[in-house]
Amino acid sequence: MTLPSIHISPDHSSPIYTITQGNLTKGDSISRLDSTLQLVVHKLLEGRDVDFTEACLLEKATPSELPGLCEASRHIRDIGKGSTISFSPKVFIPLTHLCRDFCDYCTFRQSPTEASSLFLSPEQVLTIAKAGQKLGCTEALFTLGERPEQRYPEAKAWLQKRGFKSTLDYLTFVCSLVLNETTLLPHSNPGTMSRIEMSNLKEVNVSLGVMLETLSLNLTKPGQPHHRAPSKWPNVRRKTLDLAGRLKIPFTTGILTGIGESKIDRIEALWAIKQSNKTYGHIQEVIIQNFQAKKSTPMAHHPNPPLHDTLWTTAVARLILGPDINIQVPPNLNSKTYPLFLLAGINDWGGISPLTKDFVNPESPWPTLATLNKETTAYGLNLKPRLPIYPEYFMNKHDFVSSSLRSNISRLVDTDGFVKGGINRYV
Ligand code: SF4
Repeated sequence: MTLPSIHISPDHSSPIYTITQGNLTKGDSISRLDSTLQLVVHKLLEGRDVDFTEACLLEKATPSELPGLCEASRHIRDIGKGSTISFSPKVFIPLTHLCRDFCDYCTFRQSPTEASSLFLSPEQVLTIAKAGQKLGCTEALFTLGERPEQRYPEAKAWLQKRGFKSTLDYLTFVCSLVLNETTLLPHSNPGTMSRIEMSNLKEVNVSLGVMLETLSLNLTKPGQPHHRAPSKWPNVRRKTLDLAGRLKIPFTTGILTGIGESKIDRIEALWAIKQSNKTYGHIQEVIIQNFQAKKSTPMAHHPNPPLHDTLWTTAVARLILGPDINIQVPPNLNSKTYPLFLLAGINDWGGISPLTKDFVNPESPWPTLATLNKETTAYGLNLKPRLPIYPEYFMNKHDFVSSSLRSNISRLVDTDGFVKGGINRYV
């Protein structure tokens, strides 16, 4: 089968190199890597450990060496994932847009005077979830601002009036409602969490998530994107990541690229994710999220990372994290180029909703599932719907899911752990 080849220009003018899908053969683009880089890449291809200093050598790859990195990374992807590319059919439930933090790139956060309501009511949550169920969705993604009751008295009063101590307490309640009244499985992404909050959420979520984003301390300084966002400070994010591991919670994390961090910062963040997973085995998925400038934010004029930069990050993520971790790049953030990330080693497109928009990136619609399927199969790969918990976390591991959730999971999946009926349910 002849597969598409893609011409990419790092400077967006004339094509200067080509990535083609093909078998890994000696004498191919890997052999054109600089000799030091080639040693590191070969070690990774053979499944041998590299140390952090060796991983940092990946930073030195030039644009003309990108095809070699991509070739190696997709070979590693193929070892772990074969030809399967997954996505999660979901509804996005923005439980509250209020947030105690201020990140300079965010348009999700709203103050109480801007928001149409302080929190979605239980009825509103169920209306969205039930509409999603009718369309075949299996994930209820709860995304919300960080602990708004700590900044806004009206948020605290809203929660107290209904008998909830905190936003996370309310989140736990609405997750249990969704579980009891629909077939959807909750996955919450509520920011930092304490041990007790996470334990409670584990009972009503099949997985949880927090983006590590970056470990760059520079970005917490005055004038930088995380200066007014203490929950984004590296030690806090790392603590949350490790805590999820200690509690055996299947966990989604990732890095946000292009907000002022260096390539070495990205390698350092990926390395931290790798080490946490080595200790606890809980990182089910790593998202490579490329920054998108948004109007009316302090970073409105900050440049978006170019395509070759996101391809480099994706390939390096696969090389560092190895064959088993699921790696995704959101297709809606790369609407014209997303199929290319199949050539850089991803095996997942993340949550795609046939119903709700991406409230974090409302200007970026998801591709239709028919288009996503067409683009994926064009590369000789098979698109499969998955749950918000990956098969390996409920088929091969027994303590990563609350026993009360097992029957909710098993009624939705086929013998391989993917959503029953496969892609034909959606296209
Ligand atoms: S990105 Fe998250 S933590 Fe930062 S301001 Fe937006 S909602 Fe709050």
